[in-house]
Amino acid sequence: MHSQKTKDKIKDVVIVGAGPAGITAAIQLKRSGIESVLFEGESVGGLLKNAHLVENYPGFPGGISGSDLISRFEKQLEETGVAVTLEEVTKLDYTDDRFVATTDRGETVSFAAVIASGTRPKRLADVSFLDGTEDRIHYEVHPIAGIRKKTIAIIGGGDAAFDYALTLSRKNRVFILNRSDRTRCLPLLFERVEKTKNITYLPSHPIGEVRSDGHTLLIVPDESKAGGKDILRADHVIAAIGREPRLDFLGPSLLKNLDRLTKKGRLFMVGDVINNVFRQTAIATGDGLFAAMKLSDMLRRERI
Ligand code: NDP
Repeated sequence: MHSQKTKDKIKDVVIVGAGPAGITAAIQLKRSGIESVLFEGESVGGLLKNAHLVENYPGFPGGISGSDLISRFEKQLEETGVAVTLEEVTKLDYTDDRFVATTDRGETVSFAAVIASGTRPKRLADVSFLDGTEDRIHYEVHPIAGIRKKTIAIIGGGDAAFDYALTLSRKNRVFILNRSDRTRCLPLLFERVEKTKNITYLPSHPIGEVRSDGHTLLIVPDESKAGGKDILRADHVIAAIGREPRLDFLGPSLLKNLDRLTKKGRLFMVGDVINNVFRQTAIATGDGLFAAMKLSDMLRRERI
């Protein structure tokens, strides 16, 4: 039985997450005449909000910034007549052979579900952040994308760290602190960083502690792993040390039936939530489109 707060009638599809994967699924379902509810707990775009320049999404010679691509997605959603329901799905479960998405506004029941919930940043567990630093430690670039004339220390050595550095270097001074001498980023990004005068890349620079002197942050190297490094001063720290799937809202009954529902084509996981380090907009949109086309086919057959 579903609670009294259940919204209206049973929907065909619930989509959790309005990043590139969820948006594409919603647009294609709409084109196929299938009713879906597209939930988003934060804002449209997902991780794309952080992207400096997307250069492998066809149709944009010279690349396009993440925020400009999101604006185009939003326009397309509007033109297609897809509404985004700005409510966070706190639980997605499976009961009485239906999916039940719970938000603080009630429950939405559906026949099929698309999980496009993306990732959340891994937290830095091995660095001590002392009192007075909390509000200047970040895990993504978009909350501070508008700042200028500041110094930012970015911890990490992958695409995200280098990409965030390029975004922020347009108006700020940036240090990239990599714990080893091995980068994981594209050589292309490394070369761009090398050519950008506002960015200093510091390899073999593990951090032990971040504290505040009341004015700036003091970023103290981990002496046990790499001695003789200087303490750096910065206004903000961004930890870009990888991300993990956002799946903590899946209910017990859904988890129990996950494989069966996936095999039956009633449940799809699309985009970054399943793609590990292959976090690319073009992959996510392809995943979303594929899921929507499979669902359209399945729902058409179910209705006959
Ligand atoms: P990665 O896993 O590629 O890199 C994580 C980095 O964080 C590594 O340098 C790792 O170091 C370091 N790290 C991990 N844990 C710690 C820790 N506890 N302390 C200090 N450093 C740590 O993740 P990214 O998020 O950077 O990139 C993943 C994928 O996202 C890419 O492969 C790409 O597909 C996509 N992406 C693409 C972008 C683009 O093309 N412009 C931009 C952003 C993301 P170590 O090597 O020592 O383990």
